Amino acid sequence: MYADRERLAALTAAEARVFAAARPRSRAEWERASQHLPGGVPMLWMRKWPGPWPVYVASGSGSRFRCLDGIDHVDLCLGDTGAMSGHAPAAAVAALTAQLQRGSTFMLPTAAAARAGELLAERFGLPEWQFTLSATDANRTLVRYARQVTGRRKVLIHDFSYHGTVDETFATLDGEGRVVARRGSIGAPIPVAETTAVVQFNDVNALERELATGEIAAILIEPAMTNIGIVLPEPGYLEAVRALATAHGAILIHDETHTLSAGPGGYTAEHGLSPDAIVLGKTIAGGVPAGAFGMSAELGDRVRRSIHLEDIDVGGVGGTLAGNALSLAGIVATLGEVLVPEAWGPMVERAVQWSEGVASVIAESGAPWQVTRLGTRAEYSFRETAPRDGAEAAAADDFELQQYLHLHALNRGILMTPFHNMALMSPATTAEDIERHTSHFREAVASLYP
Ligand code: PMP
Repeated sequence: MYADRERLAALTAAEARVFAAARPRSRAEWERASQHLPGGVPMLWMRKWPGPWPVYVASGSGSRFRCLDGIDHVDLCLGDTGAMSGHAPAAAVAALTAQLQRGSTFMLPTAAAARAGELLAERFGLPEWQFTLSATDANRTLVRYARQVTGRRKVLIHDFSYHGTVDETFATLDGEGRVVARRGSIGAPIPVAETTAVVQFNDVNALERELATGEIAAILIEPAMTNIGIVLPEPGYLEAVRALATAHGAILIHDETHTLSAGPGGYTAEHGLSPDAIVLGKTIAGGVPAGAFGMSAELGDRVRRSIHLEDIDVGGVGGTLAGNALSLAGIVATLGEVLVPEAWGPMVERAVQWSEGVASVIAESGAPWQVTRLGTRAEYSFRETAPRDGAEAAAADDFELQQYLHLHALNRGILMTPFHNMALMSPATTAEDIERHTSHFREAVASLYP
């Protein structure tokens, strides 16, 4: 933890004053919204951004957005991946606009459905695809399917993972290694130990122990952790997970919602892995809501054989708007024309530039921090070495320090991903965008370590 809390508080207060002076229109909008919206925001988590009130957006284009006060921001958050294609990508906007004019939801497939399936199968290596409105719902559906086909009840996750608002995933380990509700878990339906097993990332022995109970229906994991800083798998770990899942009859789900940053076919294709299912979401439709999950032929077959079509509409998987015509048009245009495989090269280059800039500032300043990169995304954390698991990463959290650094960046027209220190690249992100971050990060770190 950063030691000089007095300095940190003073620096943060000074940045809050700068923010307040520069953003009167956002303030007015926030006050107006506060009359009917708790916290003045559409969802309360938006109040967790640093600053006395939220920044209200006027418009976005490519790697940047402008707020209501006319300030131009380099967006390194990109909607926490929702806008990884860049804001308003031309090809997706054209396809989405055309589809809107032809109608957006019918409860019937359009020709985009087959094309979306072809694109996904080719990129992600699994043959069978279904669509949802969010990554959360794709995860939720697969968890239900896994229970259905295995006849077991539990989901195994990594400690400090995040997979959306899926009830079973709000679990962590206490000091004695027991499964307990994660801090802040809201309104859990039943004690989470009844639904969930938790192991540390990179801990093959713990995984084997839990699988040996015979209770695990699904292993739901990110191939690299991205929601508690970035935690990379040690060599052989994911292969061991695969082998143990097979040996113990558990369905292995790779949640690639964020790890899509690793390559055009996600971490899975980049490293030649073979899960039973893959989850995608957020960015795949160019910014309109869409999620998708792919299944192996074997899992797809087991799911089909276990379900009565007559009951599918009220069976616990679905969503009236899932697979709607607009989302599917967005997926086809985004994967086919925007986030094409060739887009990764330049995005990775920008992420390398960002990481090298951050690493050089850290080295110059002597701050006990490190930076980790996963393809087109990178993140610094407040510890000297890369974390091995979620618990290690969580132990290095320093919320106030992070809020200061993010507020400092915001005041200089740079948006970082909230709630951790991540920067994501889009095809539109430029070298100049990254230089802006490096120079202001240097200034911020110097203020902390003069
Ligand atoms: N999976 C992962 C790995 C995520 O990081 C998130 C959200 N941050 C989700 C799933 C859920 O996405 P959504 O909130 O769009 O449903």
